[in-house]
Amino acid sequence: MINYYPSFYKDFKCVADRCPDTCCAKWEIVVDEKSAKFYNRIKTPFGDRLRASMTRDSDGDICFVNISKRCPFLNETKLCDIYTELGESALCQTCRKFPRFSTSFGGSAEWGLSLACPEACGLILKNDLVFESESDDRDPDLNELDADLFLYLKGIRELVFKRLDEKLSLGEMLRFGVEACENAANKSFEYPEFKGDTDFTFGTEIFDSFEYLTEEGRELFKEINSIEEIYLTEEHKRIFSYYIYRYLLRAVYDGDVFRPFALACFAVGTIASLGLPVERAVVLFSKEIEYCENNLSLLTFELFGV
Ligand code: SF4
Repeated sequence: MINYYPSFYKDFKCVADRCPDTCCAKWEIVVDEKSAKFYNRIKTPFGDRLRASMTRDSDGDICFVNISKRCPFLNETKLCDIYTELGESALCQTCRKFPRFSTSFGGSAEWGLSLACPEACGLILKNDLVFESESDDRDPDLNELDADLFLYLKGIRELVFKRLDEKLSLGEMLRFGVEACENAANKSFEYPEFKGDTDFTFGTEIFDSFEYLTEEGRELFKEINSIEEIYLTEEHKRIFSYYIYRYLLRAVYDGDVFRPFALACFAVGTIASLGLPVERAVVLFSKEIEYCENNLSLLTFELFGV
């Protein structure tokens, strides 16, 4: 398997108790089956605590029961009791992996860091998206990847990255995304052209419909008056690149070519309108919108009508 990483990927280090955000606060931590089995075998008082803290959510996933919207193992010094008691290897996959993500595409896998983590966000905003690769001895995943669609999406992604180097207008990118989506759906696989600036202004009623993780998020998003075309800085372009890099090729599995464009354009427009320091706005957007499936569906519907 060939693995592709952004060049800064390996520079990431969790700052744990020095983190201004703490990823395990507020979110539901899903526990993988292997970790749950391991926790169930621990015959100590801490094992009893682990078992008492696990439940199944409405999707049938095993998760830790949050207490006052916090992971029950996040202690007052912002350290993880599982890590302290049992070591890093005892963390469930969700905690061991975050903020890293990976997606495999047959013989290759793409890795990255999430904008929802302030440390990772700092790296993403400071560095251009340049890739390094490394092979390992894992066999390619056997999957039913549509090779034509996959190559088309890779070509589209290259075009977007190239365009970002030259200029970027959100309206133009959104229109490009709509055409790419239509061409993929009717299997013509033609590459759309960039057709110059188009209108990118929309109302903010959608912020009334979103679900929010925090009251702070609800209040900050609802203060936005409008989202409009803006002059884009290098940081805005890196945010745009993150969303396209992370999500566009995944459309080979779910067929949703438009959503990454909607998310990238909406993210940049919203982050620029929040009136917060950019890193704070980026993490807030990622946690409240990017990581909420219901909000993403609403967004795609608002911008594309499906
Ligand atoms: S948000 Fe990032 S830096 Fe903060 S605790 Fe989580 S992984 Fe560590």
